[in-house]
Amino acid sequence: MVKKEMNYSEFVEVYEGLYATTKRLEKETILAGFLNKLAKEGEPEWIYLLRGKVTPDYDDRLLGISDKLTIKAIAFAFGIRDTEIMKSYRKVGDLGELAEEFAGKKKQTNLFAKRLTVSKVFNNFRKIMGIEGKGAVSGKTALIAELFGNATGKEAKYIARTLVGQLRVGVADATVRDAIAEALFPDEKKEMSVKIEVAYDMANDLAVVFEAASKGKKALEKIDIVLGRPMNVMLPVKVTEIKEAFRICGKPAAIEHKYDGFRVVINKVGNDVSLFTRRLENVTKQFPDVVRTVKKYVKAREVILDSEVVGYDPKTKTMRPFEAISQRIRRKYDIEKLERDLPVEVNVFDVIYYNGKSLMQEALTKRRKVLEKIIPHEKWKIRPSMQIVTDSEEKALEFYKEALKLGEEGIMVKNLNANYQQGRRVGYWVKMKPAANDLDLVITGAEYGSGKRGGWLTSYIVACQSNGDYLDVGKVSSGLKELEQEEGTTYAEMTKLLKPLIESEKGKVVRVKPKIVVSLTYQNIQGSPTYNSGFAMRFPRITHYRPDYHLKDIATLDDIKIEVKRAQKGMSHLG
Ligand code: ATP
Repeated sequence: MVKKEMNYSEFVEVYEGLYATTKRLEKETILAGFLNKLAKEGEPEWIYLLRGKVTPDYDDRLLGISDKLTIKAIAFAFGIRDTEIMKSYRKVGDLGELAEEFAGKKKQTNLFAKRLTVSKVFNNFRKIMGIEGKGAVSGKTALIAELFGNATGKEAKYIARTLVGQLRVGVADATVRDAIAEALFPDEKKEMSVKIEVAYDMANDLAVVFEAASKGKKALEKIDIVLGRPMNVMLPVKVTEIKEAFRICGKPAAIEHKYDGFRVVINKVGNDVSLFTRRLENVTKQFPDVVRTVKKYVKAREVILDSEVVGYDPKTKTMRPFEAISQRIRRKYDIEKLERDLPVEVNVFDVIYYNGKSLMQEALTKRRKVLEKIIPHEKWKIRPSMQIVTDSEEKALEFYKEALKLGEEGIMVKNLNANYQQGRRVGYWVKMKPAANDLDLVITGAEYGSGKRGGWLTSYIVACQSNGDYLDVGKVSSGLKELEQEEGTTYAEMTKLLKPLIESEKGKVVRVKPKIVVSLTYQNIQGSPTYNSGFAMRFPRITHYRPDYHLKDIATLDDIKIEVKRAQKGMSHLG
């Protein structure tokens, strides 16, 4: 069958529909109707466009065109002076609407413009992403201008928003997955939603999952993890009592130290080692020491390991908290010096793939056996995570207290029979740590300081997630450092991180693209009309900047509601 060319306007209709409602089920119905058609008439890869992307999630190249370049392309496409556009931009404040305005005017006079097809838009986006080096700016401008030149007002709006990485249609990953199930397996929607999620966690590629799902259940079940590619990790639920931990994980259970470092998934294929964070970022270059250690000590030809990389003080030989080594994830220069000053130890707690075979479906006991066979105890280099297996609450509690005494965060309790389940916090792993009232949130706004803090963004609006949207829960100005000599992130560094993300400015207050994740502590959370989440934190304080965290790792509105309830009940935190 020869496929009919699909027009980009069909996507635009979906975007508009999604934008018009905040109800998840309505979004799902709109998506499902469209996906049905896309499966028959489109290319699987076009599904990325629904998330404002043209690549799979594991690909860390972003379209990320700057506002400036987009404005230039609008000027070029419609033959308008930059200054005139800037004037409108200041008034409208949104690039999408700006592009819509100019394309709308132009369209009336340009009757010969071609209909924009999805393949044209998709291919130009891909080309834009690939252009580098000399002539990149003019090359990109021409490709964008070509799209604008043939776009209707509404089409131009969504082209601009996709380019700057701000589609703003409010669709969570889970909604897209449920919509695929509804579109392609309407009679077994619930069961297939789970299968789609499992397949997605392995492939990290919406197009691969969508294509397989279009072929049927069997094709979907065949999707497996791919060696050498970043993958989603298994995550725990939180408990406050050891009893609850055993109730969830069964008896006996494996109990491990919860190390205060950051998660690294290690891939080894022969002599080729790559390292990924839990937000799928490749950090191999930042950790040549870990690469060497893995090559030297791990006794496996092909392997995927799950681990916590922890920093230690080379002089005193004591563990250091996450914040001390977090700069190793971010820094791309002076690597050798960092390696010397901030050495790390790899604590391996799982093995997911071993010499040609996925171990994902195997029980933890079996995976642990393989782990102990291939990971030696090389203190300050690499070792299996500290683990006991017990059914005694007393022993577990003792282990917990010991872990805290050693400066660890707490413990992880794991179900011995459970397979490795990516992503979902299904309850085969639990974490227990002292009450800290902490949350991971994303920065959505900030305010410039005054006096000696002038020029820096020194207080930050932070938000949780709710169905693909970000809802503010408070404003925080303490926790960061003034001076570079102090350990931890400084106001100057945070300002540097936030400035390129600024979307609008009003006096001293800016709104920023949600990207920078921070961990915070607070005294309590209360219902409050001040923020659009309906909640506000009291006395918040930033404890860490989390460059290793993804937006999907931040607290949800439901997490916050649970915290509020927990506090109201005054639940105890020790077993
Ligand atoms: P919190 O918000 O409570 O500080 P967190 O930042 O530690 O949580 P979670 O996802 O809640 O993140 O906790 C799981 C994390 O604990 C894992 O992602 C991993 O990085 C870390 N961890 C440390 N030790 C272990 C271990 N032995 N097994 C599994 N994960 C471990």
